[in-house]
Amino acid sequence: MIHEKAPAKINLTLDVLGKRPDGYHEVEMIMTTVDLYDRLTIEGARDGKIVIKSSDRYVPDDRRNLVYQAADLLRRRMGIRDGVTFTLDKRIPVAAGLAGGSSDAAAALRGLNRFWKLGLSLDELAEIGAEIGSDVPFCVYGGTAFATGRGEKIRHLPAPPNCWVILAKPDIGVSTADVYGKFDLSRARHPDITAMEAALRNGDYNGVCRNLGNVLEPVTMEMHREVAMLKDGMERFGADAVLMSGSGPTVFGLVSQEARVARIVNGLNGFCPEVHAVRMLGGRNST
Ligand code: ATP
Repeated sequence: MIHEKAPAKINLTLDVLGKRPDGYHEVEMIMTTVDLYDRLTIEGARDGKIVIKSSDRYVPDDRRNLVYQAADLLRRRMGIRDGVTFTLDKRIPVAAGLAGGSSDAAAALRGLNRFWKLGLSLDELAEIGAEIGSDVPFCVYGGTAFATGRGEKIRHLPAPPNCWVILAKPDIGVSTADVYGKFDLSRARHPDITAMEAALRNGDYNGVCRNLGNVLEPVTMEMHREVAMLKDGMERFGADAVLMSGSGPTVFGLVSQEARVARIVNGLNGFCPEVHAVRMLGGRNST
């Protein structure tokens, strides 16, 4: 039996450069992992089956699950016929902009690499992961990185200075396709990625706070006013800086002073059903 953790990610920056001929958007993102995890347990299964047992009834337990797709692809690539059972303990909110499914798929690849003793490197697993989804390669490595292309080209960066991250997910579903569909490049306010990278290299917490930016934030906020209300609330209760992650609807706040965390969490609990106070994760994954 193998256990593997699948951490959530947040976007410190998210920029969209345009639509590509293949239908994907060209993006530039700085992402980092936080210590909110799904937990994956891997065991054998009879008759060559891929079995998924999930703690969350809204997560599919068949081929639509990215964990299934990861196992299926890895088996085909490596010529393996063994069955496998995944027990998926979901802690990351689903369809939240926190890459929960992608991180589960990445954890499945890392875990199966150990379970089947394949000896693949993280680079090889990331290359396989890119076939499953654009965020999977980043999730294979974890840590902090600049992602380009459709998100699958990764350059590693230093982790942000340690601080608290408060995640708040309103009780609404956001379709990533809708958000991208309504995104208007001519009106976008692009984040300053060079300044964010410099802040990370210098361990400059205030610089990280100043340079948070997500071109999709105004698009999602226009569709769902709950997101704007949460951002306002989080700022009012005392977060140092606040941004929506991915295409939303989760909003995260950075907080350097531990004494303020409880106040912000308590304040948000009044009108947001799902609030987590977590830490930044420094290190990258190992195989
Ligand atoms: P991203 O930030 O990469 O856009 P997300 O955090 O917004 O992702 P997910 O939690 O990955 O979204 O879920 C999106 C959809 O993917 C869900 O509605 C679900 O049906 C499907 N899905 C497939 N596999 C999983 C999984 N292992 N965990 C959660 N959702 C999954």
